[in-house]
Amino acid sequence: MNGYGGQPIFILPEGTIRSTGKDAQSRNITAAKAVAESVRTTLGPKGMDKMLVNSIGDVVITNDGVTILEEMDVEHPAAKMMVEVAKTQEDVVGDGTTTAVVIAGELLKKAEALLEQDIHPTVIVRGYRLAKTKALAELTSLSIKVSIENKDMLKKIAMTAMTGKSGENAKEQMAQLAVDAIGYVQGETIDKDYIKVEKKHGASAEDSRLIKGVLLEKEFANPSMRKELKDVKILLLDCALEVKEPERNAEIKVNTPEQLQAFLNQESMMLKDMVKKVSASGANVVFCQKGIDDLAQHYLAKNGISAARRVKKSDIEMLVKATGAKVISSIDEISQSDLGFAGKVYERKIVGEEVIYVEECKDPKAVTIFVRGSTEHVVDELKRAMDDAVLGIISALENNRVVYGGGAIEMEVARSLRQYAESQGGREQLAINAFAEALEIIPKTLAESTGKDPIDIIVELRTRHDKGEKSAGVDVFRATVADMDKLGVVEPLKIKTQAVNSASEAAEMILRIDDVITARSGGAPSMPPMPEE
Ligand code: ADP
Ligand code: MG
Repeated sequence: MNGYGGQPIFILPEGTIRSTGKDAQSRNITAAKAVAESVRTTLGPKGMDKMLVNSIGDVVITNDGVTILEEMDVEHPAAKMMVEVAKTQEDVVGDGTTTAVVIAGELLKKAEALLEQDIHPTVIVRGYRLAKTKALAELTSLSIKVSIENKDMLKKIAMTAMTGKSGENAKEQMAQLAVDAIGYVQGETIDKDYIKVEKKHGASAEDSRLIKGVLLEKEFANPSMRKELKDVKILLLDCALEVKEPERNAEIKVNTPEQLQAFLNQESMMLKDMVKKVSASGANVVFCQKGIDDLAQHYLAKNGISAARRVKKSDIEMLVKATGAKVISSIDEISQSDLGFAGKVYERKIVGEEVIYVEECKDPKAVTIFVRGSTEHVVDELKRAMDDAVLGIISALENNRVVYGGGAIEMEVARSLRQYAESQGGREQLAINAFAEALEIIPKTLAESTGKDPIDIIVELRTRHDKGEKSAGVDVFRATVADMDKLGVVEPLKIKTQAVNSASEAAEMILRIDDVITARSGGAPSMPPMPEE
């Protein structure tokens, strides 16, 4: 930093760490690759699990890319960008997080090799962009159509999505639950908010089932309320069953015990009146988003009405869709037609906690998949598997398109990219070929997970794709190449387009950085040192 007249010029505060040029690039690439490498071995049905232990000793066992990365709490900025890739993938599609991160890591690894051959980063970025556009177009043109009537295909999508999670044994049954659930809530678009996946340990995965209605983590407000009701008329309230508290500043002066009694009587009369109106509507179960006064609870119970208070808004919304009830905001406006219906409503204690089942709803537009598993860790992973299954079907139905998994689609797109590279020429050609190779990391990793030499499998895959076998992929269970169409390994197109998109964007972004300036940690920038006299 020798500057003007031999005096050093400081443009950055003391303590700032700076790395530039190749140094910055290689550090960023190394950090990003490390993130990809940390989740790579979890890919696919034969992927390994990670056990994550946080600072207070909580344990999570998973092979879910985004779960792993979120728990890892990475520091390096380029590494954080990779975590963003996973998070975006999770937010947009809900699956394919490992795939996205692994492709991003491999794109950078291949770019690193090109940088070593003195190919300028902007050339690589340009080539990668061309390759990305081509890959996205190829993905779409290679995809196949699926519709909601095709339950068989939906089940295959669900089974593929549940990949590798610990639910292998109950997989088929769980996939069926997901398909059934979708069948109920189907409409123009399927809103995943109306397929609630609830979990509780203490039973086996086979005990998981579909509730044609809602499961509430609640108990009835008062122990004297009935805990089991049939042919239930349901009232949903978003106003309290309470007498409004007097204004904060208002004082009620009572001078005699009679006056106090009269006041209390009046309050009790008002509550009684409210309950009368509820009861007159014919409702026998009330779910209230607000509070219910103790005395009102007592009157409700006396009238044979069971009620739960402070029910979550999201649960009330589920109940609207499941039972057909309307949400009422004023006790004076209840009419019979606002009530919803459920065949059964009952309270149960499951592993020490009360839950209320609202089920056997007629034509419910919201349903609950109740996932069970032996221990908390198992059931957590099963819930993630179920979420993936449901989301998988929803993503596939969003644009009615699926592609073959098991690395088949990546092989086929890579093949097209190589042909495309030849037509391009120039140095970008190298980058496009690198992009193609990077996509092959998916079949390669799946092959590796079988324990066999991945090279043999990749070579055979290439040959078979050259012969036109577009659905040839890795049969991870038999450690061979097989037809993914026959095996039923299909995935939503959206997983792949999103993964390719965000992986290449992240790779590009990291490649374009040639200067990393890290502020000194700990608040305000300090003054530059004064030149010495
Ligand atoms: P991600 O976080 O990317 O979804 P997964 O661990 O779920 O990672 O693995 C997804 C990969 O596993 C996809 O490439 C998918 O095609 C592949 N896969 C899923 N099921 C099978 C199967 N039965 N045989 C071969 N590959 C499979
Ligand atoms: Mg997955």
